[in-house]
Amino acid sequence: MKVHNFSAGPSILPKDVMKKAAKAVVDLDKSGLSLIEISHRSKAFIQIMEEACSKALELTNLENKGYKAIFLQGGASLQFLMVAFNLLENKAGYVNTGTWSEKAIKEAKLFGEVIEVANSKNTNFNYIPREYKIPNDIDYLHLTTNNTIFGTQIKEIPETDIPLIADMSSDIFSRVFDYSKFDLFYAGAQKNMGPAGATLVIVKESLLGKVTRAIPSMLDYQNHIDKESMFNTPPVFAVYTSMLNLRWIEEQGGIVALGAKNKLKSNLLYKEIDRNSKFKGFTAKEDRSEMNATFNLLDPSLSEAFDTLCSNAGISGLKGHRSVGGYRASMYNALNIESIELLVNCMQTLEEKN
Ligand SMILES: *Cc1c(COP(=O)(O)O)cnc(C)c1O
Repeated sequence: MKVHNFSAGPSILPKDVMKKAAKAVVDLDKSGLSLIEISHRSKAFIQIMEEACSKALELTNLENKGYKAIFLQGGASLQFLMVAFNLLENKAGYVNTGTWSEKAIKEAKLFGEVIEVANSKNTNFNYIPREYKIPNDIDYLHLTTNNTIFGTQIKEIPETDIPLIADMSSDIFSRVFDYSKFDLFYAGAQKNMGPAGATLVIVKESLLGKVTRAIPSMLDYQNHIDKESMFNTPPVFAVYTSMLNLRWIEEQGGIVALGAKNKLKSNLLYKEIDRNSKFKGFTAKEDRSEMNATFNLLDPSLSEAFDTLCSNAGISGLKGHRSVGGYRASMYNALNIESIELLVNCMQTLEEKN
């Protein structure tokens, strides 16, 4: 039976990408050697790293605009502190839209004053705060563009002259976006880019070099830029597979085509959540994420019946995060509309039978 993977992360990747990655683990481009047993300084791997970085810049429309793309380790979680270590001199502003923002705030507080310019804590982060003032004396403003756990997404990026930083772990490459509004953004690979182990950081180089503290080499963006993501051994498998996926995104028609596909997918599911008398959505409608839909059963006693319907249909990974409960359907780039149609069918069957 075909399995439909709605997991929030690590999550679905295109089958074709996984097949190619698996092949390269045995024999990279008919070289007789495995991707994971060759030097990261070999010509073959240097080309892979260069292509991964340049594709990331191409897809986000940031070539020749002073931005650099680097692949690091430590996940998005290490970026919570690297951002502050490299950029926070006095004060930084954070918009707190959920668990991941809170973790970023906690780390930043180790390096300077943190102003929480807005939050949506009062209703368990089910909406994106809008009416807030951005202080004009902060070093940067940090946003989480998509809140993987709560299922909200920032649709309008605030207009400001303050450098904007974003955690885009769960919606990078998923929608048409003016990426140049951001001075730095980062994403752990395992939500919409590749396997866990690599983190993509795209940064405007002119932003760096302004803090007075000493920065250890491994935490220094400038060092990783200068060494072209090869300061130490990079996570070769995760970078290679991410590169294959970036090629796949390009072949699909880039972010424009995938953005349209993701809109169709999420519209279809949200329409059913609103129509179906057995379900209700968790978040404010205008802030609904196109990547992670959170919803609940109105009558929790139906959960066993719904779970059985889903598992019989081959639906996997639908359980909600413990801080929200209910269900979460993650609809990353590689998920096809057929998977959403199947889920919608299960929801309709539940309604008909109960
Ligand atoms: C998953 C996730 C993280 C954490 O990523 P790690 O790579 O596990 O550190 C951070 N931010 C967002 C928005 C996420 O979805």
